[in-house]
Amino acid sequence: MIVVMKIGADKEQLARVLETADELGFSPHIIEGKERNVIGLVGIAGQRDKVNVIGNMDGVDKLVPISKAYKLASKEVKPEPSIIDVSGVKFGGVNIPVIAGPCSVEGEEMIIKTAELIKAAGASMIRGGAFKPRTSPYSFQGLEEEGLKNLAKAREVTGLPFVTEVTNPRYVDMVYKYADMFQVGARNVQNFALLSELGKTDKPVLLKRGMSTTIEEYLTASEYILSEGNKNVILCERGLRTFETATRNTLDISAVPVIKEKSHLPIMIDPSHAAGHWQYVGPLSKAAVAIGADGLIIEVHPDPAKAWSDGAQSLTPAQFKELMDSMRTIALAVGRTI
Ligand code: PEP
Ligand code: MN
Repeated sequence: MIVVMKIGADKEQLARVLETADELGFSPHIIEGKERNVIGLVGIAGQRDKVNVIGNMDGVDKLVPISKAYKLASKEVKPEPSIIDVSGVKFGGVNIPVIAGPCSVEGEEMIIKTAELIKAAGASMIRGGAFKPRTSPYSFQGLEEEGLKNLAKAREVTGLPFVTEVTNPRYVDMVYKYADMFQVGARNVQNFALLSELGKTDKPVLLKRGMSTTIEEYLTASEYILSEGNKNVILCERGLRTFETATRNTLDISAVPVIKEKSHLPIMIDPSHAAGHWQYVGPLSKAAVAIGADGLIIEVHPDPAKAWSDGAQSLTPAQFKELMDSMRTIALAVGRTI
C-alpha cells in the first residue's frame, strides 16, 4: 500500500504517520518526491482496518494499493527516476558512468595499472572480483581479502571508487570495509539471505539480473534489499541463457526500456558477460548507450590473453579507449554524456 501525503503536508504530519505505521507493525518507507512525499507500507496483508487508521490521519491524501509483486522498486511508489550516488559517481541522471576493470583482481600492480589506464580513457569507477563465483569449484576463486586491499590501493592511487562482488552473507562485513559498492552476481540474484544482509547496510548494491530471471522476478528480488531499508540499488542486465551459443549469453537489451517503464531504479548494461567474445563488446556497448542504459560495466585487462578469468571477453586498454570515444558521440545524440 502507498500512503500519498497531501501537497503541502508538513513535517509533523509526516512524522506522525510514520510513527503510527510503525506502532501498527508495518515497515514504513518514506520516499521523498519533488511535489509531495509518499510512504510505502510493507507487511499489510489482511490488515485493512489498521491501514484505514492511517488513511484517516491529517496530511494524508489517499491510500493506493500496489498491484505489482514488487513494491518499493516500482514506479507506482516513486514515479521519478532514482539517482544513486556511489562515492560521488551518480547513476540514473544525464551522465552515463562507465565502470571498467578486470574480471578478477590478479595482484596490486596489475589492478593499479589497469585503473590508471581506464581512468585515462574516461572511466568513472573500477571493477574487479576478489571473490569469484566460478561455475567449477576447481577454477580460481579469487584473492579474497588481499584482492580487496589491492582494489583499495588502486582507488588511493587513482581516486576512482570501486565495485566488487560479494558472494556470501559471511563476507558482507569484510567487503563493506573496503568497497564503495557491493556487486551481487547473476548466480546470486535470488540468494535472499545475501540480499537481506546487504539491505541492512548503507552501501549501494549493483544487483545483476540472473541468466534465467524474468524481469518481474528480478525486480521482486531487489525488494529483499529495499525492504530492509537500503534504497541504493542499481540494476544490471548481463545477458540471458538461450539456445544461442555464438555468444556466451543473449543480451536482453529490451530489459532497459521495460525496466525504465516499471521501476525508478537505474538500469545498467554489462556487455562483456553477455558477449563472451571481445569483438561483440563494442557494438553491444554502443547499443546500450543508444537505448538509454544508465551505466556500463566493461571488462578490461592489460593483457587479455593472460587473464586468470574471462580473458576472451576482455578489451585491451587501447580498445577500451577507442570504445569510450565512440560511445561519447552516441551519448550526445541521445541527450546524455559519458
Ligand atoms: C563478473 O562480473 O565478473 C561476473 C561474474 O558477472 P555475472 O555475475 O554477471 O556472471
Ligand atoms: Mn567476469
